[in-house]
Amino acid sequence: MNKITLLHEGKAKKVWQADDADLIIQEFKDDATAFNNKKKGSIADKGVTNNAIASRLFVMLGENGIPTHFVSKLNDRDMLCKKLDIVLIEVVTRNVAAGSLVRRYGFAEGTVLPKPIVELYLKNDDLDDPLMNEDHAVALGLGTYEEVAQLKEMAEKINALLVPWFAERHLRLVDFKLEFGRHKGEILLGDEISPDTCRFWDAESGEKLDKDRFRLDLGGVEDAYSEVKRRVLEQ
Ligand code: UDP
Repeated sequence: MNKITLLHEGKAKKVWQADDADLIIQEFKDDATAFNNKKKGSIADKGVTNNAIASRLFVMLGENGIPTHFVSKLNDRDMLCKKLDIVLIEVVTRNVAAGSLVRRYGFAEGTVLPKPIVELYLKNDDLDDPLMNEDHAVALGLGTYEEVAQLKEMAEKINALLVPWFAERHLRLVDFKLEFGRHKGEILLGDEISPDTCRFWDAESGEKLDKDRFRLDLGGVEDAYSEVKRRVLEQ
């Protein structure tokens, strides 16, 4: 499968049209950004690591009945995917309080939530991805109430699959962001699931093993990403 034209260059990935009109190739880069592009850098081998992690996770979710855009891992940095018409909603699911939940609502970091919280954000960098509810999403024409409900339901199912899967690998899944898209009338999980889009804490030590190491200048960023990759690929 060949890269034909560059369709889009994002912060962490390039998206290429593939030979087949229904397929695209996601090329994972080492570039890292945080705080809506205000902090920029590079994490050695991040692209290779995230492609490996996301590919493994898409296979696991697919085997468990979650429809995803994943077709195959082509090589170290390239993933072949079904072409999506992206839904401009970022769906964040939280099991433990961290990040903006702490900043916005005053939860103590590490508070275990009584049930997972699912949040919707408008995918719009110019507006700083504002938090929104179903009414905003429908009023903005991003989808129907049924579709938005379906995204939330899919996020909850995915969370219920990921939490025990990561727990077996001694990782606590604190929170994560998902993106979805439409393909031939079906809503599929898209984008990636990786330490760029999830918070992982080591189950025993509580050490942060995700992009927070980059965001907060904690050091050991590459080692944290490799450690997640090692645990994800080992079984
Ligand atoms: N997240 C993401 N992309 C975004 C915003 C958030 O992948 O544009 C992920 C983030 O890595 C974390 C979860 O979504 O795992 C919740 O992020 P939060 O709202 O706490 O925002 P942050 O503190 O990262 O600004």
